Amino acid sequence: MLKRCGRRLLLALAGALLACLLVLTADPPPPPVPAERGRRALRSLAGPSGAATAPGLEAAAAAAPGAPVREVHSLSEYFSLLTRSRRDVGPPPGGAPRPADGPPRPPAEPLAPRDVFIAVKTTKKFHRARLDLLLETWISRHEEMTFIFTDGEDEALARRTGHVVNTNCSAAHSRQALSCKMAVEYDRFIESGRKWFCHVDDDNYVNVRALLRLLGSYPHTQDVYLGKPSLDRPIQATERVSENKVRPVHFWFATGGAGFCISRGLALKMSPWASGGHFMSTAERIRLPDDCTIGYIVEALLGVPLVRCGLFHSHLENLQQVPASELHEQVTLSYGMFENKRNSVHIKGPFSVEADPSRFRSVHCHLYPDTPWCPRSAIF
Ligand code: UDP
Ligand code: MN
Repeated sequence: MLKRCGRRLLLALAGALLACLLVLTADPPPPPVPAERGRRALRSLAGPSGAATAPGLEAAAAAAPGAPVREVHSLSEYFSLLTRSRRDVGPPPGGAPRPADGPPRPPAEPLAPRDVFIAVKTTKKFHRARLDLLLETWISRHEEMTFIFTDGEDEALARRTGHVVNTNCSAAHSRQALSCKMAVEYDRFIESGRKWFCHVDDDNYVNVRALLRLLGSYPHTQDVYLGKPSLDRPIQATERVSENKVRPVHFWFATGGAGFCISRGLALKMSPWASGGHFMSTAERIRLPDDCTIGYIVEALLGVPLVRCGLFHSHLENLQQVPASELHEQVTLSYGMFENKRNSVHIKGPFSVEADPSRFRSVHCHLYPDTPWCPRSAIF
């Protein structure tokens, strides 16, 4: 009896020790993802219904028996990919260092505003809440470059600018609705005949002078894909190659929330997968959002590497870290939520944080002090 109890005790102790070891070595539980903060990153996880499903989990189920599956196998593994705040720390592990900001590049060709097509993606419910701020600030200075892609009629908006495109895409924040808008943006750019295509969200400030300087340092006839990744390694996805065959694919993509640009030379090569209805079917092939689909076409299908540029900024990074003294050089800025806190660039005046929570008005007065509504005695 005593012996049996002793053995049981020994077994119980061994079990407890094993459990402790497992707990200590297992992945930490994934952090909770508040709806607003992680939406863009989680869009990569969204299945057709918009529910968060890791592509690898879907992939594992869809893969042919015996097919190699190298994708993400658990949500916690997926979350470990999303080290958004650390993305700029160093060269990406597992990937060759890419040309980054580096020393200033000599101009390849001087650009006029008419050479660039800036597509701003929005949705009807954000026309007042977000777009009006952009119209008052950076868009007011660059109307001929800027085209607004939305999903609902708005007479007030149409009176303000002629460059509004109603995509007739669904107003949902689903993978398909966002790809539908990107498809229309791409087609309109091709029609425009311009040299550069840039995509931004309606929570981005575009510093057009810096943008023209950057784009002017690359030849638009060559293959150029410029932007900033939101992951610290290539995204692992599953590409459907035929009715019942899938295969793993990995590639870098520039996050749409920081904005990205594509040269005309490259955009024309993307046409078989991006023009007409093809963008939507390409997006379906990897079941990932619009910005990932762009990366898939450029890097995975065309073999053109993303040129990383730290001058693009989304609200998935800590915007307080953008030095106020270097605002002139930044190409895009954003605002929103990051790690459950309000996230915006740090700039002193002329407007208080209460009056200008995005800081876009203050940034605009810093960059264009002659703007009529900027206080004359603006101090920065
Ligand atoms: N958006 C959209 N339809 C929606 C919700 C958002 O087209 O139903 C657009 C929005 O206008 C913005 C982009 O998608 O340009 C990203 O939206 P948001 O900033 O709300 O989310 P994030 O992905 O940055 O978390
Ligand atoms: Mn956003």
